[in-house]
Amino acid sequence: MKCYLCAKEGKDRDAVAICIVCGMGVCMDHAIREEVAVWEGGYPFPAKKLKRTVPRILCKPCYSAYHEG
Ligand SMILES: [Zn+2]
Ligand SMILES: [Zn+2]
Repeated sequence: MKCYLCAKEGKDRDAVAICIVCGMGVCMDHAIREEVAVWEGGYPFPAKKLKRTVPRILCKPCYSAYHEG
C-alpha cells in the first residue's frame, strides 16, 4: 500500500501504517501515533476502559479533526 497523502502530492512512498479512523495508508511522515489510556465514546470502536495504554495511528487529517472537536 502507498501513502495516500504522498500520492496526492505526486510522491510515491510506501505506507508504514494505516489510519484507524479512515483506513488510509500513511507513511512515517504522515502517521501520528498516540498512546491513549482510555478509548473515548463516539470513537469507531466500543467505548471501554483499558488498563494499558494502546497505541493508535491516525493520519494527519483525522488527527486534526479529532483534536479540534
Ligand atoms: Zn506520506
Ligand atoms: Zn485518517
